[in-house]
Amino acid sequence: MPIRIDPWGAAIPEDYARLMREFGIEPFEKLLARAPNPHYLMRRKVIFGHRDFGRVLDAMLKDKKFVVMTGLMPSGRMHVGHKLVIDQLAWYQGQGADIYLCVADLEAYSARGIPFGESKKLAAEEYLANYQALGLDVGRCNVYFQSRSDAVRHLAFLLAKRVNFSEMRAIYGFVGESNISHIFYPMIDVADILHPQLEEFGGPRPTVVPVGIDQDPHLRLARDVAARFQREFGFVLPSSTYHRLLPGLMGEKMSSSKPKTAIFLTDSAEDIKKKIKDAFTGGRPTAAEQRKYGADPDKCRVYELYVYHLIPDDKKLLDLRKACKSGVIICGECKSLAIELMTKFLKAHQAKRKRAEAGAKKLVEKVY
Ligand code: SF4
Repeated sequence: MPIRIDPWGAAIPEDYARLMREFGIEPFEKLLARAPNPHYLMRRKVIFGHRDFGRVLDAMLKDKKFVVMTGLMPSGRMHVGHKLVIDQLAWYQGQGADIYLCVADLEAYSARGIPFGESKKLAAEEYLANYQALGLDVGRCNVYFQSRSDAVRHLAFLLAKRVNFSEMRAIYGFVGESNISHIFYPMIDVADILHPQLEEFGGPRPTVVPVGIDQDPHLRLARDVAARFQREFGFVLPSSTYHRLLPGLMGEKMSSSKPKTAIFLTDSAEDIKKKIKDAFTGGRPTAAEQRKYGADPDKCRVYELYVYHLIPDDKKLLDLRKACKSGVIICGECKSLAIELMTKFLKAHQAKRKRAEAGAKKLVEKVY
């Protein structure tokens, strides 16, 4: 049975390799040697796949223009899983990318019923302030709201002429009860991805969209639609990269609506301590057994925190991995280290975020 990925669902895709085969996603590691000073997320295969990323790399290496497109759905508090994309954006910004940052307030309304006023407030106070604090210079990004962009809405309507309902149903699984704004929404997403290539936004050029695999349906649709309108607009088919989703602390997907699964960027030292202490690990039932037989970092949610965020140095990460597998370190000690590193990181981050808030509020007033 073919796999259908639901961009609005809650499950972690289980078999990344199967998804890659099924949807024609290439392994990222083949391009790693060409990437200038690759981010640790690339080196560690957190970013594991791509479509046509080679043409973005070519542009990057030849000092030609390229676009990075991303969206934020203002639907709740940011957690460390969200940081993954911001780390990538900051890296791309350092490589000279023209970054488009879309506030997906139409999606928040159609999929979650979030009013536009609330989206605006959340975008400024929760998202953009955090992005700035995480090292992305949001003042140098093209930030816009879907609901305010005439160009995006107009393009979505125009492109929808060559997409039919059967296709949307096959990709997204829409049924008779699906509301029409939800059904139309993917066309807004396609227009988000393609509009930087309109003449008034700089014309056709390579574009990459860094996403979790759950967002792939939007990418496949965007590429198909771009091909159908190539004669009129000269679109370069958008490229994409795929990262593994950071699993929740208790094993399931990290989610803003399930506080125990995630460490939020606003969490206190006490919250961090409690959540990491309760996290699922790859340890043994007793300390004695673990000292003797070692543990399994690949089953451990705390280890994932190290891989994704807490230990950027590859050598140090490898040392910790060896210590875990050989029983040199046991889970209690290892969790204490994770608590210490996360607390230090979030304390510094929260101070930076506070300083970034006023700028973010001003920014949402003037963007298109
Ligand atoms: Fe996870 Fe650390 Fe325990 Fe290994 S020692 S299983 S990395 S908590």
